[in-house]
Amino acid sequence: MNTTIPHAGSILKNYVAGEFTASDKLFENINPVDGSIINHVAEADSALVDTAVKSAHAALHGPWGKMTMDERCALLHKVADGIEARFDEFVAAEMADTGKSLFQARTIDIPRGAANFRIFADMVKSQSSDCFHTDTPDGKGALNYAVNKPLGVVAVIAPWNLPLLLMTWKLAPAMAAGNTIIAKPSEETPATATLLAEVMHDAGIPGGVFNLVHGFGYQSAGEFLTTHPGVDAVTFTGESSTGSAIMKASADGVKALSFELGGKNAGIIFDDCDFDEAVAGTARSVFTNGGQVCLCTERLYVQRAIFDKFVAALKDKAEAIKIGWPLDEDTDMGPVISHKHRDKVLSYFDSAKVDGATVVTGGGYPVFNDVRDNGAFVQPTIFTGLSEDSKIVKEEVFGPVCHITPFDDEDEAIAMANDSKYGLAATVWTTNLQRAHRVAQQMDVGICWVNAWYLRDLRTPFGGMKLSGVGREGGVHSLNFYSEPTNICIKL
Ligand code: NAD
Repeated sequence: MNTTIPHAGSILKNYVAGEFTASDKLFENINPVDGSIINHVAEADSALVDTAVKSAHAALHGPWGKMTMDERCALLHKVADGIEARFDEFVAAEMADTGKSLFQARTIDIPRGAANFRIFADMVKSQSSDCFHTDTPDGKGALNYAVNKPLGVVAVIAPWNLPLLLMTWKLAPAMAAGNTIIAKPSEETPATATLLAEVMHDAGIPGGVFNLVHGFGYQSAGEFLTTHPGVDAVTFTGESSTGSAIMKASADGVKALSFELGGKNAGIIFDDCDFDEAVAGTARSVFTNGGQVCLCTERLYVQRAIFDKFVAALKDKAEAIKIGWPLDEDTDMGPVISHKHRDKVLSYFDSAKVDGATVVTGGGYPVFNDVRDNGAFVQPTIFTGLSEDSKIVKEEVFGPVCHITPFDDEDEAIAMANDSKYGLAATVWTTNLQRAHRVAQQMDVGICWVNAWYLRDLRTPFGGMKLSGVGREGGVHSLNFYSEPTNICIKL
């Protein structure tokens, strides 16, 4: 593949009202593999965010609002085609920003980024609405139906772990439903969003429909968006504490909110599982993308009869993970996103050790004796021996790490798995069909996999309970959030 990083050494611009716009204030975009500066990013100020909101309003009632659904969806298909036409550039940009492996960027991040536009462009055409015949005293009746209108101007605020995938997971349904957008990628991962703006431009998406603003959260582009009176809805993926800050900031405007937040996901492994499948699946669920997927498993509960054997087998899997250059075909895991995040992950490792954990493997960072030592690598790590109230068992780390606790019976495992302020995902490994249904339905989470992990059907509801989120995305659930059903009542 062509591995040239697009826009390397230049400035990534904002895209507002159909034009690429620089700014005086720049911040660095750092490659977490070796700490080098990839390029600089133009931070949007409040005036630019205001211009973006105004242009989004104009487009809502202008060209975008006046298009037929077919015309709009044809353009979204062109966006998907445009991402695929520049596939290698998107892969190189995503890898440079995140350090994720070529395999991951090529098979998950970028293909899903394109697929999201096609899926929602097709799905919106079969979005249904209510229609009722209502009896009236005069016997003539009334016809009540609902039409789906767009919510309006939607702010899309995205995280760094799956930058293009998660941003398009919101953009595509929002645009398919007729909304106009101001998107803000994470300050850590501005590149693929900038390429996407170029693709939107080239595909002929009218100016103002999709705006891109770069910057940070607090007192920067993120906060300018969530407090702007012209923004009708905020759809956000990121940390639970950020969700809470956005909820407060959006309160005065009573904006519609959709939140996909953090997790502290549990995996329960029963002694009747298919052992090899459970080990392989659990290794994926703990270490994929360096543990930086919101669905990753950080707490494992293993039935006592197979506990020692399972810990040993997972240790072998962790130690076989090849950490290294993202471009090497056989690299499994790159660095975590930044030095700041590495410090956070390592501080959790330290606290586990202080609490008396047994370090089964890892517990620190690798040394390469080359420029990667300037990067943000962390060792795949497994701990055992901690009580359930230890910090690392309670709080989200968002790194390549898990803690494993033994259990004796089903009720005990369910109770420990559910004892969390989060409620995003769970995995259950068993070959007992009745147990599979019984346990899965008792998990206090938005999604529970049995004998699988990260197996997604994009039509299903996706989201979290408790601190893990508000609302559901996926299929009709996304479309419903981005739509404002208006009831029309016709007296017959
Ligand atoms: P983050 O909350 O730090 O940042 C996410 C985005 O919010 C960034 O664009 C950031 O600039 C912006 N932001 C930060 N403060 C803001 C503020 N006050 N106002 C407006 N915007 C603000 O999250 P992150 O570190 O980028 O991502 C990791 C987190 O995301 C983890 O907690 C992970 O579990 C979660 N996540 C959840 C899901 C899910 O589907 N539930 C998916 C991926 C990641």
